[in-house]
Amino acid sequence: MVIMEEKRVFKDLEREVIDKGKCALCGGCVATCRLLNYGYLSVDYDKERPVIGAGLQCPPDCGYCYYQCPRVNKPQLEHELEEMYEVVATDDEIREAAQDGGAVTALLAYALAEGIVEGCVTVVRDEHWKPHITVAMDKSSLIKAAGSKYTPTAALTGLPDAIIDRGLWSVALVGTPCQMAGYEQMLSVGRDTHNAHNFASTVRLRIGLFCMGTYSYEGLINGYLATERGIKISEVTDMQISDNMLHVYSGTDELLQVDISEIEPYKRDGCRVCEDFSALFADISVGNNGTPEGKSTVIVRSYFGKDVFEGAIERGYIEAKPIDPSGAEIVHRLMERKKKAGIAEKERRKAGLV
Ligand code: SF4
Ligand code: SF4
Ligand code: SF4
Repeated sequence: MVIMEEKRVFKDLEREVIDKGKCALCGGCVATCRLLNYGYLSVDYDKERPVIGAGLQCPPDCGYCYYQCPRVNKPQLEHELEEMYEVVATDDEIREAAQDGGAVTALLAYALAEGIVEGCVTVVRDEHWKPHITVAMDKSSLIKAAGSKYTPTAALTGLPDAIIDRGLWSVALVGTPCQMAGYEQMLSVGRDTHNAHNFASTVRLRIGLFCMGTYSYEGLINGYLATERGIKISEVTDMQISDNMLHVYSGTDELLQVDISEIEPYKRDGCRVCEDFSALFADISVGNNGTPEGKSTVIVRSYFGKDVFEGAIERGYIEAKPIDPSGAEIVHRLMERKKKAGIAEKERRKAGLV
């Protein structure tokens, strides 16, 4: 007798991933919900988790959200390339607005200008440092979205905005490593799921951002920075984590410089089990580790990413040279460190130690 496996639905995703503190808040489940148009599933940013609308019942034969989740099924990694460069944007305005060389903004500006993509799903912040997903369609919107935010945004939920609401046919997706993995999962399960299929075939370019973790908005911004440290958040113009230090600036004044162990309690639980530092599923990964201040570290990971990268050099959007071997070593060390930390945390949880 063949025993059919019972189809899993949202409540299983809740029980196995979200309630267990494993959710990366990538937004993939929300974007691929079969009843997306009816607002079944959304991200509750106060609770920082996906939630089903009050009183709604999922159809018993559904479960797109469950099978889409990169924390349920790890997507298969197919290595194409790993070419590392030290990069700087040539445009003064981009360099001034962006962190560390402006490579992300410059690559996106090139992709928009050349018609490789029609829009870019990315993140802007408001004056309270609350992040919001946006679809940038020109250089000035890209510049507004430049810089790291360090609090969670479910970037994959921006895909329906770009594709359904704006009717775009080709978009760039900028996000954290988990969001790149969430997208990859859309590609692999996409054939059977209408939303995932549409979205996966519309994302042309994936730019992943190096990530050591994101922090609860309430905990980091309101709790730690505003209340504990007395910082007026609306005056903060820049925040950076580099070399294990958090730096908070207001213009050229440095308001705070602390070891990141100070903010560790506010790190999202889902980030503690994460093993990917460098966005392995992106076409191009970008960060600030391994290159001097004012430069971006860029890893070209796919042949398509290589075409975009070389096009951006040819058209004068970026200048690039191979990264110094000591810089590549730093990046590899961080990749290894995060992988080990994620595995160790999973083992601690399995053993009931946390
Ligand atoms: S995909 Fe299906 S099971 Fe999941 S939340 Fe939407 S309706 Fe419910
Ligand atoms: S990791 Fe992503 S897909 Fe999985 S539950 Fe969280 S938001 Fe949804
Ligand atoms: S640490 Fe991992 S789960 Fe957390 S935001 Fe970064 S990539 Fe996503």
